[in-house]
Amino acid sequence: MADPGRWVVVGLDNGGTMNNATVLDCEGRFLVDRMAESPSYVREGPETAVEALARSLERVLELTGIPPALVRAVGLDTPGPVSADGVIALQGATNFGNPQWCGFDVRGALELRLGLPVLYNNDANAAALYAHHVHFGPAETARRSSVSAIVGTGLGGGVIEAGQVVRGAAGMAGELGHVWIPMDGLLGEGQPVPACNCGLAGDAESVASLTGIEKNLLPYWLTRFPDHDLARVTPAGKGAKLVRGYGEAGDPLAIAIFRQQAMALGRLFTIAANFTDPDVYFVGGGVVEAAPHFRDWFLAQVREHTLLREEQRRAASLALVPDLDMAGARGSAIAALAAARILDEP
Ligand SMILES: [Zn+2]
Repeated sequence: MADPGRWVVVGLDNGGTMNNATVLDCEGRFLVDRMAESPSYVREGPETAVEALARSLERVLELTGIPPALVRAVGLDTPGPVSADGVIALQGATNFGNPQWCGFDVRGALELRLGLPVLYNNDANAAALYAHHVHFGPAETARRSSVSAIVGTGLGGGVIEAGQVVRGAAGMAGELGHVWIPMDGLLGEGQPVPACNCGLAGDAESVASLTGIEKNLLPYWLTRFPDHDLARVTPAGKGAKLVRGYGEAGDPLAIAIFRQQAMALGRLFTIAANFTDPDVYFVGGGVVEAAPHFRDWFLAQVREHTLLREEQRRAASLALVPDLDMAGARGSAIAALAAARILDEP
């Protein structure tokens, strides 16, 4: 019989091609300090993918030498849109193209497969929860609030209030990417209002995402810099991924693009300031891993465009989401630990 005082939770971060896993002990210490990845097989449908998640859990336990009997709960995150309790959206989701995924209860299926409680968050909320916990530490976490914007293929968001993820009635709170922001003074001369995959025009994701660069910002700025190297790169998606490297080298086209993205994030945070007035505004995504001089320039731009009142400026700060690749699995584990501690109470 395992020592009842020594138990762990596992965090599983489900991605389009890989799962990442981590282990957190009951004292809140991570037992894995790097990525622990295995294939996610999400394209093959739910049955194979749930099995892959179970395998990912087994592998991370093998890695840490923790017997399966010591696992109290599991945290799971996936890309959205997914309901607060882990049901994939009825209309499907980008990562879950196989029609069997529509309306599939991935949380419930994994719980059944593992015979353990499974706590669900979407990937941005899990990363936001991790950033919040790292920044404030165990003593302050529950007293603080934060807002996270994570720039990737899309723009992920998370709102943490008093240490808890704000989920909303349908699980769709914190979808900061789809908040409309003013385009006045952001767009260049003759630049069309960018459209987002969600159907809105001029929301935060339409500018501050890799998709936004590919579909909107790069095509426009190439009309301004027609002789730029990136004009000869096809397809456009490949060019979009190269923009950051040009930005680090101080290229004017790339700087123009990142200035627009920073302005979009600042305007988004200005809206957040009037909603939840958080202690910290977190920025995550590729820019976190960029060269320090470029990252600092980008953050300074975001700060400049985040319009806070004097009292708010004194109280709040802007920070980066740390360990971005591991943030999903780690945030999922933190959510599972909180739930397991409640179960543990006499
Ligand atoms: Zn949108």
